[in-house]
Amino acid sequence: MKAAIYPGSFDPVTYGHLDVIRRAADIFDELTISVLNNVKKTPLFSVGERVKILKEATKDLKNVTVESFSGLLVDYAKEKNIHVVVRGLRAITDFEYELQNAQTNRLLSGEKLDTMFLTTSLEYAYLSSTTVKEIASFGGDISACVPEFVADEIYKKYGVTK
Ligand code: ADP
Repeated sequence: MKAAIYPGSFDPVTYGHLDVIRRAADIFDELTISVLNNVKKTPLFSVGERVKILKEATKDLKNVTVESFSGLLVDYAKEKNIHVVVRGLRAITDFEYELQNAQTNRLLSGEKLDTMFLTTSLEYAYLSSTTVKEIASFGGDISACVPEFVADEIYKKYGVTK
C-alpha cells in the first residue's frame, strides 16, 4: 500500500491545490492532506475551518483524508508511518524553497522521507491562496480560482456581499 502526505497551509484551498490532490490521489493508494498549524503565520481561516473546507472540497475522493498537524513534518510522517511527501511546483520561484525543505526533511528523517513534486497544470500556474485572498478582499471575482462554496467563505471573512 503506497501512502503519501500532502502538507500545506491551504488558507484556503484553491483549484491549484485541488489539481495536485486529484492527481496525487490517482498515483497513491492513500493520500492524507495535512493542514499545517503554523504559529508563525496569521491565517485567514483557522486550522479547523481549513480542514472542514478541504473535507468538503475532496468529499468525492474516497482515498483522501484530511487532518491537521503541528510541529515537524518528519515527526508527523514517522508517527503515521508514511514515507512520501507530495508538493506542488508552480514556477522557478517555488523551487529553491521546496528543494531546501525536501532535502532537510530527507536528512532529518534519516533518509526515510522523500518528497515527490507534481508540476502545476498550466491553467493554475498563476494561482496562490494569497492572490485569491487579495482579490476577494476588494470584492473581485475569484470564481476561476476556488470552488463556489470556498469563494462564499472567503467573501464572508472580508465582509463582502455578493
Ligand atoms: P505552504 O504555505 O506550505 O507553501 P500552500 O497551501 O501555499 O502551503 O501550498 C501547499 C502546496 O501546494 C505547495 O507545495 C505549493 O507549491 C502547492 N501549490 C500552491 N498553489 C498551487 C497551484 N496553483 N498549483 C499547484 N500547486 C500549488
